[in-house]
Amino acid sequence: MKPNKSILPLLLLFLSACSSGIGGVTPTPVIAIVADQPEVAFEAGITPSPVPFQFSLPTPGAEPVSAWRPPLYPIPWAMSAYDHFYFARPIAADMVNWPSADYRYGGVFFGRSIVHTGVDIPTPEGTPIMAAGPGTIVWTGWGLFSETPGNQDDPYGLAVAIRHDFGYNDQQLYTIYAHMSMMNVIVGQHVETGEVIGFVGSTGATTGPHVHFEVRFPHNSFFYTYNPELWIAPPQGWGVLVGRMMNEKGELIQQVNVTVTSEATGDIFVVRTYGKGGAVNSDPYYNENLVLGDLPAGIYKVSFRYADEAKDRQTWVEIFPGQVTYFTFHGKDGFATERPPVPTLDFLPSALPSTSTPQP
Ligand SMILES: [Zn+2]
Repeated sequence: MKPNKSILPLLLLFLSACSSGIGGVTPTPVIAIVADQPEVAFEAGITPSPVPFQFSLPTPGAEPVSAWRPPLYPIPWAMSAYDHFYFARPIAADMVNWPSADYRYGGVFFGRSIVHTGVDIPTPEGTPIMAAGPGTIVWTGWGLFSETPGNQDDPYGLAVAIRHDFGYNDQQLYTIYAHMSMMNVIVGQHVETGEVIGFVGSTGATTGPHVHFEVRFPHNSFFYTYNPELWIAPPQGWGVLVGRMMNEKGELIQQVNVTVTSEATGDIFVVRTYGKGGAVNSDPYYNENLVLGDLPAGIYKVSFRYADEAKDRQTWVEIFPGQVTYFTFHGKDGFATERPPVPTLDFLPSALPSTSTPQP
């Protein structure tokens, strides 16, 4: 699928809404706290809150990996019309450039009940951070999360936002890079893929150096994030596992561990279904609540313990090079591996309004 560029009117409308304060869509910081929070319809009017940020994000640990992966597919990479691996990674390929497994998108940081709206790539302080795609810098500095320029209490610390030159289904795409030690760009500057926009740090609410990376559309707002593992190109020969896990009633099963075991090597990956939170969104096509990127092609066993059953449920899936493998789990019907039905011609993202949202 070709990235779309014809979103200028929408974009201009959004920008003008931005400069006039966005009215009702400034994020409420505490929305990130899951416990006892009602499900928030993220297009609903949300009023700013003076509640101070009270969380610090975990420090991703060094991962016990062999520290080698194949080169990435060229971007944009899309094997099907509904795939959208449009972005490069913000960290160079000679370093760990994959998301920390401990705290993926939709993950809940143990003991803090914070739903994660991006992925974390742990790298040493000072590591260059690169633009994931071509675009224009629309934010630099403190205050990105709270949408309050200069807010030194902002948990994202020194952060940069890029408005990309291309969109998705006529919707504007943004990427976010947070916790920088230093920035290398100014607002209005155009950057190309791979251009250094800043350096890894630990500014904001974090206890150690890493880059927090987000993909947002159609608005540059905390409530419009999507799983970056569905947007960054996989290593060549590797693929991505995407799942939708539902109970008997068709409700998403939250925060359950799913074990993915390689038939060839015995390597075990554990991925957790998304936690609950108005800031965590499923892809409009896949409607997933689980993504495990960077899997070498091959056969895998997918297993998990459903409800309080005595035995694990399991199925087998095949990961194909450069592709998404999709599965569902639905209560007593169990696993299925069909792709989602092809949307009709008037397909629009199910969870998003079809027109621009910010009401000035
Ligand atoms: Zn993060």
